Formats: sequence, structure tokens, C-alpha cells
Amino acid sequence: MAPINEYDYDLIVIGGGSGGLACAKEAVANGAKVACLDFVKPTPLGTKWGIGGTCVNVGCIPKKLMHQASLLGESVHEAAAYGWEIPNKEAIKPDWEKLVQSVQNHIKSVNWVTRVDLRDKKVEYINGLGFFKDPHTVVAKLKNNTERTITASKIVIAVGGRPRYPDIPGALEYGITSDDLFSLDRAPGKTLVVGAGYIGLECAGFLKGLGYESTVMVRSIVLRGFDQQMANIVADSMVERGIPFLHKTIPKSVEKTEDGRLLVKYVNTETQEEGSDVYDTVLWAIGRKGLVDDLNLDAAGIQVKADKIAVNEAEQTNVPHIYAIGDIIHGRPELTPVAIHAGRLLARRLFGGSKQIMDYTDVATTVFSPLEYACVGMAEEDAIKKYGEDNIEVFHGFYKPTEFFIPQKSVRYCYVKAVAERSGDQKVLGLHYVGPVAGEVIQGFAAAVKSGLTMKILLNTVGIHPTTAEEFTRLSITKRSGMDPTPASCCS
Ligand code: FAD
Ligand code: NAP
Repeated sequence: MAPINEYDYDLIVIGGGSGGLACAKEAVANGAKVACLDFVKPTPLGTKWGIGGTCVNVGCIPKKLMHQASLLGESVHEAAAYGWEIPNKEAIKPDWEKLVQSVQNHIKSVNWVTRVDLRDKKVEYINGLGFFKDPHTVVAKLKNNTERTITASKIVIAVGGRPRYPDIPGALEYGITSDDLFSLDRAPGKTLVVGAGYIGLECAGFLKGLGYESTVMVRSIVLRGFDQQMANIVADSMVERGIPFLHKTIPKSVEKTEDGRLLVKYVNTETQEEGSDVYDTVLWAIGRKGLVDDLNLDAAGIQVKADKIAVNEAEQTNVPHIYAIGDIIHGRPELTPVAIHAGRLLARRLFGGSKQIMDYTDVATTVFSPLEYACVGMAEEDAIKKYGEDNIEVFHGFYKPTEFFIPQKSVRYCYVKAVAERSGDQKVLGLHYVGPVAGEVIQGFAAAVKSGLTMKILLNTVGIHPTTAEEFTRLSITKRSGMDPTPASCCS
């Protein structure tokens, strides 16, 4: 192998998203010379965006802003119950174009700040599509169709993924994905959301909140991988808000109608009953594919596993000087803070002498459905599978957020659950919460779970009143007791 200084860079990062940028900046902070390549291929509809990756441009950030827009619509109506004089409630409606403009303005400002930050931190940014020429050489295909070849001692692959399209007639021509939704130049209208994962539920939720009819098509179960009691509570709370779910159903085709709308034909996979309906928008939210195809991985000898890259616990591929982080790695959560944390820790190990590896356990997450769901740790069914039903205790309770009373908002699905070991101080294995600001509630508890939280400590924690987070400190009813988990009183 050539000595380290024979390479152009100490590190090349392919992919300038959450993980790649965090890794590149941390590597420079630890003394490395770093180049970071980023390139976005347009969607079939032609949508493209700037540096920063999925989260900033077509993921968490625009999603959260649209979710917030939807919640604000709800709040306007609630405000009237609280005594705000709203002259003509019926006239209140969303302006999709204005919303998209505001969201896109914010994204552009983040793109700009990102570029300035890279320049300030001395990361060389190359706006090109990267692929391997050999294990130490990466070629960047630039916008003007020229190529630039660079070498590095170490390479990190952080190319993320893109939405999948189903293999049915009309899918590519007429359907859109989350890559298009946040910059759509027309109001989506009546929308069919295919897929019942995070993206499907979140998009269907905010679209309905913004006043557009939305339907969720579920192939098998809602929120696969999550605690299924909680997943069903989330789905039921969406149905209560007027979002129908087509269960055990898959789409068969999409056709354009004479008046320019979209006719979707579908089939129920249990009854084989066929059905159809007409929509203005069809949104595919059926999962994401790792972007391995453009990388020419064979030239470097890197092994692929189900369109992702297989890595060991140190994010190392089968080629020892090549690593992968973020959504592109196989079998890890596809979440922004996971990509960032793994990227930083990797850079410190590569250039800062650190030995710390990423801990992928007990990563908290939130589904930004209209009534949000957040959790950390194990699902009830996973705990039962691992420890046996007799060895776990499940504490649970419905609760009534104080602020829901005056506007008479439904409290039916506000629910918390703690899954714990049954013996000793009852180590907490998982916490689950459906209700307002779920992510804000669970984030702090996630640190407690990481620190070995027990039910004894949780129930000895004095709550903050009146909050919804305090419900975790009031969990006195176990499922095993069979007692009614519906609250009788609020303040005593
Ligand atoms: P990415 O951010 O996808 O970055 C990869 C970059 O590499 C992209 O810019 C890509 O274009 C570029 N690239 C690809 N191939 C090449 C190549 N050959 N050469 C050069 N560049 C290349 N996560 C959360 O934690 N919270 C949320 O609320 C949340 N909401 C989401 C909502 C939506 C709609 C979506 C789609 C995702 C959401 N996520 C959320 C997931 C989160 O966005 C991802 O986990 C995160 O962006 C992954 O970061 P990454 O660095 O691995 O990849
Ligand atoms: P996902 O969570 O994997 O869900 C995909 C959904 O599509 C599942 O319900 C799946 O059903 C269904 N599906 C798959 N193929 C289908 C087909 N051919 N026809 C019909 N339905 C099909 O994927 P996602 O919602 O696209 O999200 C991708 C990742 O982004 C997530 O894993 C998550 O980590 C990240 N993300 C995070 C957040 C957040 O943190 N709030 C938000 C959005 C996205 P089956 O169960 O039957 O397979």
C-alpha cells in the first residue's frame, strides 16, 4: 500500500448528507485533509435539490415544517374555544403554494449555511457523482460532464437512499414520492398514500390536517417493527381524524383519467376483492433503496447486502480502509441523528485515536403522525419474545392532556406504556408514548433509559404538573392486574 501522503486526501466522503457531512467535518477537526462529494439525481418528475442530503431537503426538516403547518391549522380552530375571536372560521384555509415557498426558502437557507460551513471548516466540497475506480481512487462525475479523479487513504460511503417505486403500470409516470411532495407546484388534493411506515403515516397525517383528503393503503401491518399495540393506536387516532386505511391492500395500476386525475386500481390480498378510486395525487411511501448502483463497488471489491452495504460494529466494510455510515448500511435505523453520531465517532476513531464505537441500541424515535408517537427501547412483543411473558411487567395508562379539555379534543388515544423487567428494581426495557410533542417528551427519558432507568426510579421521580410527560411518573397500573387504565382524576 502506498504511504499515506501519496494520496490526495486522508479521507474522501462520498455523500454530503447528515452522516457524510458530520464525518467530514469531524475528520478535519481531528487534523485530516478531507474531500466530500455530493450529487443529487433528479426524481422521475424532475425534482432536485442542493447539498445537505435527505433530512434537510426532502426529509425530516420539510416534513416537520408541514406537520407544524397542519398542527397550526388545528390550533387556530382550538383558539376560538379559548376565547380568541376569529371572525370567519370557515374562511381559514391553507395556501399550499405559500407553504411550499416558505418551506423551500428555509431549505435554501440551510443549503447556503451548509456550504459556508464546509468552506469555513476546510472540507473540500465537490458537487459530483462519485464512483470507485479502484480501492483508493474515486472518480467524481461533475455537472459539466467532466470527471475529476482523486485518491485517499480512507473512504467513507454515506450515500443514503431514495424512495422505491412499485413495479406496476403507471407508478413512475403518475406517482410521486416524498422527494417531490415538499416542493410540489400544485396543491396535492385528494391523495392516496401507499405504505404504512413512518413516511406514509406522517404524510397522510399532515395532508389531512392541511385540508386534503388522504387515504393510507396498508399492505400488511401498520408501522412494521414498532410495538404493534402502539402502532394500532396511532392508526386508530388517524382514522378518528378522517383518514381511512385500506388494510391488506396493494395497488395494481395507476391510469390518467380524461379529466387529468388518477384512477388507482387495487386488490385486497386476503379477499382478492378488487377496487378502485380516483385521486389527484398518488404518493409512494413504500420504503427506500440504498444508492449502491452508481458506486461501481466491484472496482473496490465492496460487498453489498440487499441494496445496502454490510459493515462490522466499527462501520468497516469487507475492504478494511473503506467504511459506510447512515442509511446506506445494512440493518441499522435509518435516522438522521444515528447517521450523524456514527459519522462523528468514526472520524474520531480514524483520525483522533478514539476507540469508541457507535451504540445502536435504545435509539429513541418519533413518528410525527397527527397525534404523535415516540418510543425508546423495546416493543412489548419483543420483550416478551426475549424475556418471556412471565418475566416482564407492562405498566400502562390512558391520560387526558389538560389543554385538550377546553377545545374538547379527543383524549381517546392518549396513552403511555412502560415495558420493564418483572423482578428486582424492574429495569425499564421500553417506553412508549402517544400524545402531543412526543419527541420532546421521550428525548429526556431516552437518556434515563440509556443510564439504566428502573421502574423504582421512574415512579420515585416527581412529575412536572401539568404536563403529559409526567404521566410516566404516575404509571401505577400493570396489564397483568387487569385494572382499568383509564384515569379518574387529574390532579390528585
Ligand atoms: P442522506 O441524507 O440521504 O445523504 C446522502 C447524500 O449522498 C445525498 O445528498 C445523495 O444525493 C448523495 N449521493 C448519493 N449517491 C452519491 C454518489 N454516488 N456520489 C455523490 N453523492 C451521492 N430521520 C429522523 O431522524 N427524523 C425524521 O423526522 C425523519 N423524517 C424523514 C422524513 C422523510 C420524508 C424521509 C425520506 C426521511 C426521514 N428521516 C428522518 C430519515 C433521514 O432523513 C435519514 O436517515 C438521513 O438523512 C440519512 O442520512 P445519510 O447521511 O445516511 O444519507
Ligand atoms: P418503511 O418504514 O420501511 O415503510 C414502508 C411501508 O411500505 C411499509 O408499510 C411496507 O409494508 C410498505 N410497502 C413496501 N413495499 C410495498 C409495496 N410494493 N406495495 C405496497 N406497500 C409496500 O419506509 P418509509 O416509511 O419509506 O421510511 C423509510 C425510512 O425513513 C424509515 O425506516 C425511517 O427510519 C426513516 N424515516 C424516519 C422518520 C422519523 O424519524 N420520523 C420519518 C420518515 C422516515 P410491509 O410492512 O408490508 O412491508
